Amino acid sequence: MKLQLQLETIPVWDGVKEGSECFLCTLMKKAEEDGIRYYLSSAVMTPEVRVEMNEHGFCPHHSALLAEGGKPQALALAMDTYYDENKRLFAPLYGKVMDAGNARKAEKAAAALFEEAHRRESGCLVCSRMEERLLRYAYTVASLWRDDQDFCKALEDSKGFCLHHTESLIRIAPEALSGDDLRDFIKAMVELLQRNLDRVQHDDWWMTQKYKSENKDKPWNGAEDGQKRAVYKLIGEGRVIDPVRK
Ligand SMILES: [Zn+2]
Ligand SMILES: [Zn+2]
Repeated sequence: MKLQLQLETIPVWDGVKEGSECFLCTLMKKAEEDGIRYYLSSAVMTPEVRVEMNEHGFCPHHSALLAEGGKPQALALAMDTYYDENKRLFAPLYGKVMDAGNARKAEKAAAALFEEAHRRESGCLVCSRMEERLLRYAYTVASLWRDDQDFCKALEDSKGFCLHHTESLIRIAPEALSGDDLRDFIKAMVELLQRNLDRVQHDDWWMTQKYKSENKDKPWNGAEDGQKRAVYKLIGEGRVIDPVRK
């Protein structure tokens, strides 16, 4: 059964008009900021949120953003209880290391300790909140593409999406579309990607040419940041790294 997702018509329409290389990158960077702000807010005082934080925690990227988020009190509180939970889970594993009678046993016991640490590190609450929004945004893009001619045209005339979010759109599209609509949407998104990767490559190439003395005085034609756009057009920004898998 298909998911019943809420349409996010306003941010998606605003996005398609913003003229960026990928408006899903813009929306997801915003979702990331909102997620970080939430986990550094008074929400961390509520028991349900603390339980959730102790159980799942954050991926390394979002842990670092929390650390740099400028909210020492909220983070200190969250980390103190997270450490308590680590202590509870690690206690028997520390014991096994201490009891090891030879090197092989010590290595094996230490490996079990770090396996538990990796398990603790997987699944991220900020990534999970971001993924919920990505799902709704991508669903909205696919729905509007089918139902609104003006949106379809605006998307055609836009700079498209990054490679990373084009994949997300195609992955999520079956929630909104099926049959010929789905086929045509996939084709349209891949065509949009191909055309816009060529455009970005052309800007990047023009930058390489601008370093030649004969081109020094020729116009940039908007390629001043061609090398950076060439990178982000592939990898995207505001990526969902490791959501909690339920
Ligand atoms: Zn993107
Ligand atoms: Zn994360």
